[in-house]
Order: sequence, then structure tokens, then C-alpha cells
Amino acid sequence: MKALLLIDIQNGFCPDGNLPVPDGDQVVPVANALIDSGRYDLIVASQDWHPAGHGSFASAHPGKKPFEMGMLSGKPQMMWPDHCVQNTEDAMFHPDLNASGIDFVQQKGQNPAVDSYSAFRDNDQAALTGLAAYLRAEGVTALDLCGLATDYCVKFSALDAVEMLPGVTVRFIEDASRGIDPAGVKAAIDEMRTRGVTIIGSQDALA
Ligand SMILES: [Zn+2]
Repeated sequence: MKALLLIDIQNGFCPDGNLPVPDGDQVVPVANALIDSGRYDLIVASQDWHPAGHGSFASAHPGKKPFEMGMLSGKPQMMWPDHCVQNTEDAMFHPDLNASGIDFVQQKGQNPAVDSYSAFRDNDQAALTGLAAYLRAEGVTALDLCGLATDYCVKFSALDAVEMLPGVTVRFIEDASRGIDPAGVKAAIDEMRTRGVTIIGSQDALA
């Protein structure tokens, strides 16, 4: 059972969004080719889904600006611009993404007191989203993942997939992903590879 996990391909992370990832929208045609390929038995998408005033937003911390480090529930936290607030346009999937091909959507980031980069659990690694149990119940043996942003939500999701789904082959599709910071992307790819994630291109996934 082969699954594709699309991470946060939402308006908020595309060029007109509130937390734009450079060229974030360029993952959409690649993701659509993967969705439409017939190579996957199951297609899952994660969706960053914050309540207004979420604790990861700089606006929730007087005197803090976006992209500074701050604290959240006693731990260091990157201060983000307000983004992907529930039920706003910013939180919707990119309009060109073939969302009708998605079998299951995993929302994350609803707890205002902790951020959740990974689609599997919050950054404290305390609260699980339930995605690992879902994929296990579906009998998934191979998981390809991609999306936005490589150096945050994609990386943490890939590392959690390796740790939380023992025996499942995990691959990162590089050209179906974009990151925020080039040095961060390189470090993220190195870390994923070191931890057992196979780095591939979409041509490998479609072959
Ligand atoms: Zn977020």
C-alpha cells in the first residue's frame, strides 16, 4: 500500500499568502502530476489550521516581529506572521491543486499553546494528530512526501514518519517541495537523508 503525503500546499505558503515560501506555488503542477499518476493507493494532505491569535504568531507577543525568535509555553519558538487561520482564504489549499484527488485531510496546529510543524504530532511531541495510526490502519508500507516548506513542516513530517511508522519506506520528493531558507533546505535534506529518508525526484516517483 503506497501513500502520498502532501504537506501544507495552502494559499498561505504560496507567493500571495501571509507566509509565502519562495516559488511555493511551483509545487502545485508537480503535486497534481503525482496525484493523477495512479501510482498511489492513498493520497493524504496536511493543512496548517490555526485559531486566530495562535501562539506561534508574532502578533500574539507584544513587541515581537515576524521571523524573530520568541518563546511559546516556555520553549523557543520562531515568531511567524499570522497565517493559515481556520476558515480563511489563507488556509485553503492552492486553488489549482487537484484537491478532489485527496482521500484524507489531516489538519494540525489547532492548539494555540504549541506549534505543529509535523503532520504527525505537535512540536512538543506530546499530542499526536492521529495520522500515524490512520496510515497504519490503512496498511501503508511506503510513504512519499512533499510540499511546503522543506525546512520546516516537510522535514519534521518526514522525520516523524520514519520514527513513528517503523518498517515503512519514506521518500522525500525534492522537486515537489520548496523551502523558506536555502541553507535551511540543504540542512533539512542532509538531516532527512541521515535519518533514513530517501531523497528522490518526481520522475523517480512517476517511473
Ligand atoms: Zn503554522
